[in-house]
Amino acid sequence: MSLLQDKGHILVVDDEEAIVTIVRDVLTQAGYHTIGALSGEEALDVFSVNPVDVVLTDVRMGGMDGFELMRHLAMLDSSLNIIVMTGFDSYETVLQALQSGAYDYMQKPLANHAELVATIDRACSSARLVKENAKLIKELAGSHAKLSESNRALVELNHKLKKMASTDSLTLLFNRRYFDQVVSRELARRNRYSLAMSLVMLDIDNFKDINDTYGHKVGDQALRKVAAVINDSARTSDIVARYGGEEFGVVLPQTEPQNAVIFAERTRAAIENEVFVIEDEQINLTVSLGVAGATSACPSVDPGSLVAAADKALYEAKSDGRNRFVLAPSVEDDTSENSRAA
Ligand code: GH3
Ligand code: MG
Ligand code: MG
Repeated sequence: MSLLQDKGHILVVDDEEAIVTIVRDVLTQAGYHTIGALSGEEALDVFSVNPVDVVLTDVRMGGMDGFELMRHLAMLDSSLNIIVMTGFDSYETVLQALQSGAYDYMQKPLANHAELVATIDRACSSARLVKENAKLIKELAGSHAKLSESNRALVELNHKLKKMASTDSLTLLFNRRYFDQVVSRELARRNRYSLAMSLVMLDIDNFKDINDTYGHKVGDQALRKVAAVINDSARTSDIVARYGGEEFGVVLPQTEPQNAVIFAERTRAAIENEVFVIEDEQINLTVSLGVAGATSACPSVDPGSLVAAADKALYEAKSDGRNRFVLAPSVEDDTSENSRAA
């Protein structure tokens, strides 16, 4: 019998002991675990210490009546299924029971035992579904929170990876890959909107000597410090990158070449005047710079020719004696010369 008794826990409340006994017998035989109470007050006591899935209660009882019991139970467990047993064939009583939140009602005397069991079966299944639903919703909320958390971590990781892919690990400036992308992007923008744009290439002078004299480790630190000076000299809208080795590139969007020259000279002077203190050594460095740009009046320019023009100017600065900048002939002039040659 105990095996059958896990269909559900039913609390039967009636002030007539005979009714409680009959109902409990029927339901026990149907496989339910039942508890009885002879008043609303006793029902509340029993409810507080026993698991109950469904309550079957009389309406008219001495002391607390069925409606009051329903109100108390609803406060303790709002999802509890309560079935009322109405002794009088009154439409109002049934209506009041249902309006008070009763799950169902049964007319006394409960002569039809099959109907009693069927009603309890329905109420128990419904109670079980509500419980399972609540459990599922809780689990779903838990996995939603987990999903949000892993999504946030993924977005953060993506952001880090993206930053890593565009950063030079030694100097923490942008890397060559990103620099090339920016040159193309900014050139496309200036070509479309007829904006000025300049490019400055910098190369540390005689850097091989630094490595040879102080070692590669000091050389690395010198590279980092030079990178910081260039970065400080640039505007936040400029893009400063390590182009490779001891060479740097700076993109100056919306900057006329004659203004890029001011940046070039300021940066050159800043590096010349800085005494780089590395591992107790005081090191002086200079840079050579090549400046190339397109004025706002200049027609379309392709990235390759702008970088080549800045490189050529840098090469000239080196051969002219280093620690200086050279401004490339404007790309505009090159274009008109080319067109003249053609
Ligand atoms: P120039 O004035 O003509 O530019 O002379 P340079 O000695 O700077 O030029 P060169 O191209 O002969 O040598 C560049 C040196 O830069 C040699 C190379 O070892 C050093 N270098 C390039 N990348 C790094 C780096 O990441 N760390 C260190 N410590 N040295 C580097
Ligand atoms: Mg060099
Ligand atoms: Mg070099």
